[in-house]
Amino acid sequence: MTRQMPSNSTTRPTHTVEDYLMTMHVMERDHGEIIAARLAERMNVAPATVAMTLKRMERDNWITGTGRKAVHLTETGRAAAHSVTRRHMLTEWLLASILKVPLRLIHDEAHGIEHAISQQLEERMREVLGNPQVCPHGNPFPGSEKAISSWIPLTNLPVGEQVIIRRIHEYAEDNPDLLNFLIENDILPGVSTQVTNILPFNQTLTIHVNNREITLGFQVAHFIFAERPTA
Ligand SMILES: [Zn+2]
Ligand SMILES: [Zn+2]
Repeated sequence: MTRQMPSNSTTRPTHTVEDYLMTMHVMERDHGEIIAARLAERMNVAPATVAMTLKRMERDNWITGTGRKAVHLTETGRAAAHSVTRRHMLTEWLLASILKVPLRLIHDEAHGIEHAISQQLEERMREVLGNPQVCPHGNPFPGSEKAISSWIPLTNLPVGEQVIIRRIHEYAEDNPDLLNFLIENDILPGVSTQVTNILPFNQTLTIHVNNREITLGFQVAHFIFAERPTA
């Protein structure tokens, strides 16, 4: 193979590498490290495929540490990861608020478009869309993590406290069945709710949304975040 190393930070990674970088950004943000074995699950591809892609990514200077338990983003890699994440989130807003594309479709549609957006277009989108701090699902733009730091997973709420749902984690965005379930049941940013029942032995909790009771497993509830009203 005679592929060139990226010569500078303005060289864009391939689509595949951008997809990996976005997933790596979420892992690094949430856990402080990127466990290679988890990438296979998250990317929904075979471990051997992940291993090959990681090798290529290390050769091209996006990451270091291939072959060890955790890989690390290089400075260039992190900048590229943040860039594609911003473009993804701005595209979601463009689709949702300007083009009125249904919420259940915007994440997947954005994946097809995000790679083609130039820096100029990104800046224009940010301006027109009002410089958002979170995506339509409530996930923070890279560098805007502070904006969501007071939001609490549903699993950490006491029974009876009235809260407003603010965020559906990227892991749920990536799971169409789960995302559709949440949308169909109005478990969405801006909707008010309260936990009405917690069954630890069953690993479930029940929430009250729009006059209905909905039972969620802890695993799912852990990735839905709410805000305590300030007033
Ligand atoms: Zn998304
Ligand atoms: Zn989103």
